[in-house]
Amino acid sequence: MSNCVLRSILYMLWPFELHRAYHRRNDIHARFGGQQQGGISTPANVPGIFIFTGQGGSDVGYQDDFLPDGTFHYTGQGQVGDMLMSRGNLAIRDHVQNGKDILLFHQTKKGGLVRFEGIFVCGGWEFKDQIDITGQKRKAIVFVLVPQKDFLVEMEDQAVEVVSKISLTDLRERALQAASTPQVSSARAALEDVRVRSKVVREYVLARSGGRCESCEKEAPFFTALGQPYLEAHHIHKLSDGGPDHPASVAALCPNCHRRAHWGADSTELNNFLLDKISKFEV
Ligand SMILES: [Zn+2]
Ligand SMILES: [Zn+2]
Repeated sequence: MSNCVLRSILYMLWPFELHRAYHRRNDIHARFGGQQQGGISTPANVPGIFIFTGQGGSDVGYQDDFLPDGTFHYTGQGQVGDMLMSRGNLAIRDHVQNGKDILLFHQTKKGGLVRFEGIFVCGGWEFKDQIDITGQKRKAIVFVLVPQKDFLVEMEDQAVEVVSKISLTDLRERALQAASTPQVSSARAALEDVRVRSKVVREYVLARSGGRCESCEKEAPFFTALGQPYLEAHHIHKLSDGGPDHPASVAALCPNCHRRAHWGADSTELNNFLLDKISKFEV
């Protein structure tokens, strides 16, 4: 994966409100581009992939579904024969390492408005037997998507362990590995895996900082009970911090700079500054 891709993506927050209805063409594609038809839309030069579920899917063997554990199972692209890991399917699988969010929209009525269901992380994918549009049995790719909102700052930051025995190079290797989405044996495995991948990225970024805020460069304001400098992992492109992410999109910040990155009048400038600064050591 090329870091040039990440560097070309500027910081932005999505203008969509949860559960609000939008006109697909006018509100989404006119503004951001991307394919106006089909389930997976991959606009260029925008840090996101739009996926659509709902009306029409079940006619062709699609069985998208929210499960009780909160994950959403999304059937990939391809109406006839075995599905291939290419185009839109590949974009979903590799969204973390390409610095793209997955935005899910639900179409309740054919040709009608689409409802924004939130931002998701691809936890894993598996092949499942389904019937295609011609009535033939085929292997379909089913993605296990985890809501980004499930990653809370507080919970995530409490879970940091002392990892000083591992070298920075090894931590970085693990973090880059964590940016790629695995094929999984079950939805449960995908859910557990996504938590582990999230933690690995955070551990590396905190180690990379050397105990200094990557924004103001001051030392961490205090040590935790485990004896580690206290800094928070800020996911530059995300509203909520946590989840697997590319290390070039995550910064270790002191609590003040972190609040500023989310709520400051200059938050856009600050986040772009951080992206630029971090990309220099993530080449
Ligand atoms: Zn700071
Ligand atoms: Zn943050």
